[in-house]
Amino acid sequence: TSTTSTASDPRPYVPERRGILFIISAPSGTGKTTLCKQITASVPGIWHSVSYTTRQPRTGEEHGREYFFIEEKIFQDMVAKNEFMEYAHVYGNWYGTPRKALMDKMEQGIDVLLEIDVQGALQIKKKVQDAVYIFILPPSMETLRTRLQSRASDTPEEIQRRLQKVKEEVWSFREYYYIVRNDNLEQSLKELQSVFLAERLKTKRLDMHWLEQNFILE
Ligand code: ADP
Ligand code: 5GP
Repeated sequence: TSTTSTASDPRPYVPERRGILFIISAPSGTGKTTLCKQITASVPGIWHSVSYTTRQPRTGEEHGREYFFIEEKIFQDMVAKNEFMEYAHVYGNWYGTPRKALMDKMEQGIDVLLEIDVQGALQIKKKVQDAVYIFILPPSMETLRTRLQSRASDTPEEIQRRLQKVKEEVWSFREYYYIVRNDNLEQSLKELQSVFLAERLKTKRLDMHWLEQNFILE
């Protein structure tokens, strides 16, 4: 392809279009999982990365779909082998994003969605400048409590532990580029969809191969 500049072809080197990395964080119970499922179902061409965790599966969760549920020893082996892009200890369990699957997708030009906690997002932010950082806020502490209770997947102690972290956690919003307040689900989904679509329309994302093939100057 005509992507390398030579003496006779002065166009700059144009890399293949890489996938966009979308990173979404939110306090537990805000609705992040619900919204991310709706995003991947409604915006074509997004690959939702599946993390590894040492947490027990909740009712309805499937190995390989929500998470890869693994023993702590296996998790630590993976850490030692540098197999995680980032990892963190969250609410008493380990969570990590597998590096290879993610890099492969991005190199193929496929957009990737990571649903990870604030510590993980900050680890990636140190390495990846051009990822898209999105933070979802709950409408209020009361709503959050109700949502965690209605999800009925965590014990009262676990819910209390998650709620205690929130007041501190929300202030991390400053590290993110987009904020969505998840009050009304339909409205939040629209806002998120706009972010995904707008990011894809940025000038720097234009597929130069397509442009060159179609509008080549003789
Ligand atoms: P997270 O992944 O952020 O921990 P979930 O997606 O599991 O949160 O959502 C927590 C609970 O709140 C679920 O029962 C979900 O159905 C509910 N929920 C999510 N968003 C909304 C919303 N906008 N309005 C009302 N309930 C919501
Ligand atoms: P849950 O147990 O409710 O599924 O997730 C608890 C928290 O861990 C959420 O904030 C979720 O985003 C986060 N989490 C899930 N996977 C990962 C991951 O791979 N890395 C990090 N850092 N956090 C994760």
